Amino acid sequence: MGKAKGQQEQGQITLKENGEFQPIELPPFEIVTGEQMSPFYFKFQFRNVEYSSGRNKTLLCFRVDTPGGITEPLKGYMEDEHATAHAEEAFFQQVLPKNSEAYEVTWYVSSSPCVSCAAKLANILQQRKNVRLSIFCSRLFEWEQPEIVEGLRALVSAGCKLRMMKPCDFVLVWETYVEKEDQSFTPWEDCKENYEYYMEKLADILK
Ligand SMILES: [Zn+2]
Repeated sequence: MGKAKGQQEQGQITLKENGEFQPIELPPFEIVTGEQMSPFYFKFQFRNVEYSSGRNKTLLCFRVDTPGGITEPLKGYMEDEHATAHAEEAFFQQVLPKNSEAYEVTWYVSSSPCVSCAAKLANILQQRKNVRLSIFCSRLFEWEQPEIVEGLRALVSAGCKLRMMKPCDFVLVWETYVEKEDQSFTPWEDCKENYEYYMEKLADILK
């Protein structure tokens, strides 16, 4: 158990309990966290289509490792409604509040950060030098906007590794973060093509 059951009441958050990561008192954001999401959610929210109409959330799957792998990685996912707090910021408030420990953080997100999140993440990485962040994105969010381009460049300058999700990354997310039971998953037909499309856009942004 321990998984999220859809939208929860404001201010109520389920966090998985795991050793050092204790649930903390949380602001009233509509953030849902859990260990695994439904197959439907994954297939809809993570699909790397060129235009993401109807997809107004960010789904963020995370993995937190400590250097040397001393403790088991912490894994889970978060989702937001884009009207309130965004999953990217919520992660650093709820899952990894500020402390002096060193962490290697890997995210698989349905869409790249918005302007505001990119700036907040760059700021967090500048303040928390012992946190390394790698972000694998399914889609690029509003990548034609100059502010987004600047934001993503600043994020990478702050040390963030930014990549697009390859077909094998979608399989990895399915295997790890989806409550799949006995269902199997094959990446959609245009998955690789879309990945290549976005990869080129990202390369243009970061060059
Ligand atoms: Zn955002």
